Amino acid sequence: MSINITNEGFFNSHFLAEKTRDNPLIRVMALHALAYCERLFYLEEVEEIRVADANIYAGRRLHEGLDKGSKKYTLELASQELGIRGKVDYICTNAGELIIYEHKKGRSNKGNQAWPSDYLQTTTYGLLVSEHFNRPVKELRIRYHADNKTIVIPFDLNKAKNEILKAVKRARELRSCLQRPPVNVPENLCRTCSLAPVCLPEEEHFAAEGKEKPVRLFPAEDERRVIHILEQGAFISKDGYQIIIHLPDGEKKAISTAHISSLVLHGNVQISTQTIHFCAANEIGIHWLSYGGHYVAALQRGAGFVQRHHRQYDAFCKPFFTTLLIARLCQAKVENQLKYILRLARAKRSTPVQNKKTLEATINAIRHEIKAIARIEKTLSKADDGDIVEYDKLTGEMRGHEGRAGREYFKALACILNLEKDSFLYFDGRNRRPPRDPFNALLSFGYALLYKDCVAAIQAVGLDPCFGFFHTPRSTAYPLALDLMELFRVIMWDMPLIASVNRKQWRKQDFEITGKQVWLNKEGRKKAIILYENRKKEKWKHPVLKYSLSYARTIELEARLLEKEWTGSPGLFARLRLR
Ligand code: SF4
Repeated sequence: MSINITNEGFFNSHFLAEKTRDNPLIRVMALHALAYCERLFYLEEVEEIRVADANIYAGRRLHEGLDKGSKKYTLELASQELGIRGKVDYICTNAGELIIYEHKKGRSNKGNQAWPSDYLQTTTYGLLVSEHFNRPVKELRIRYHADNKTIVIPFDLNKAKNEILKAVKRARELRSCLQRPPVNVPENLCRTCSLAPVCLPEEEHFAAEGKEKPVRLFPAEDERRVIHILEQGAFISKDGYQIIIHLPDGEKKAISTAHISSLVLHGNVQISTQTIHFCAANEIGIHWLSYGGHYVAALQRGAGFVQRHHRQYDAFCKPFFTTLLIARLCQAKVENQLKYILRLARAKRSTPVQNKKTLEATINAIRHEIKAIARIEKTLSKADDGDIVEYDKLTGEMRGHEGRAGREYFKALACILNLEKDSFLYFDGRNRRPPRDPFNALLSFGYALLYKDCVAAIQAVGLDPCFGFFHTPRSTAYPLALDLMELFRVIMWDMPLIASVNRKQWRKQDFEITGKQVWLNKEGRKKAIILYENRKKEKWKHPVLKYSLSYARTIELEARLLEKEWTGSPGLFARLRLR
């Protein structure tokens, strides 16, 4: 028999048109995910979250490397009647009979069976092929390469049709839901699931059951790099799988896209449209910062995220919920400020007496604010549904406590740094917009870098950064990114910055002074970026989850834990504390 290979270009445009329909066909691979875990189906198919991990690349390589032989064919098929579409990798004809092959990298189930998800996937291919050629498939063969087993499954058209229609029905039900299905599969399935770093099943069990120590399925570090481009007049283009940085002096630098997590363009740096398209399609972030370090914009992918945004809006419209989150966020921020000040004070051997008194007063003042926030949190935790609670008033009070604690914190920092008045880094409290001294310029620049990473983490999780719970909406910055930043200001920037000041790493020549405004110049910005990026790579042990991960990953983890506050596993956000 002859088989006509479907024109791939035609089929791709058909798939694109499919996406715009109200009830698009379901991908066969989505049914595979459904049989594995309903939550996996939901994350991939409904929320469009796909993570290509090492297993997935290995699977792709396996398929690319297989010798199809002369009698094996690949077809892309769709069936309106069944409501599915997919690419059948190997159809073989043997004595006029149709046989479907599916290759899997892993092991078979108990050495003699197919896994349910593989069975459903291959059976669906059988149905598609039967319908396309209007004749039944003889059998399905699943080849498991890890244990070298081929499982042969006789094909029963009616049985297959019933099973697939049932699965398609369930898939459509899930597709119309706004809520993610719960984590409800054996732990061993989660350990090999590519979406575990997004789903965080172990953390869900930990939050729900108080499991002693969750296994870390969330990657400890991101091996890809953030590329900052500071050279004014540079141009960025793409060549295949390489990003090319064209420097103004004619020099070119090529970096493999596999090694880049995001590009940060400082000031007058151009980028080609093709590069922007490529970055959007391959989850490489692009952030634009002004020459002076202000955050300007980020590349945001279109569509997707609808369900996540809905759930976020729903949650943030509940005053009880947001007020409690604010209490936890303020508590975490101010406690970290206090712990850092105490740590610095212990480390400083000879603080002048005058400063010691001021320092003690500021420490007491911060403690006072912490107690006040804790009292509000207690009131909120005890409140019942029917109680009349003045949420706006409590929120205002907490903003006051947090603001006062912040002022005391910077006063304490000034005491501890104890720099001479004629030192170019002399610090006498926080000022900004614009910073009026080098130390404040450093603080502002580091916070801008941190803000960029908070925006990136929020985008990676698929939340809407415009809609926060603590910071009020404003046009210059995303409120949710500012909210998330509060957890990291001390840990990610104040600590490495103060350490660098103590090491005397800064020079007057690192700054530019224009009237009353102070900025970091190119050399200063380079130093600050290196300091910040190195801090991100450092690992620490999360005090609640008790596993180690880099600070860079911690930002994304907190953004994911924040989302869990309204998706069924609350209690883990904003619990990170300095030791
Ligand atoms: S990590 Fe587990 S619960 Fe989450 S999607 Fe994967 S298999 Fe399902």
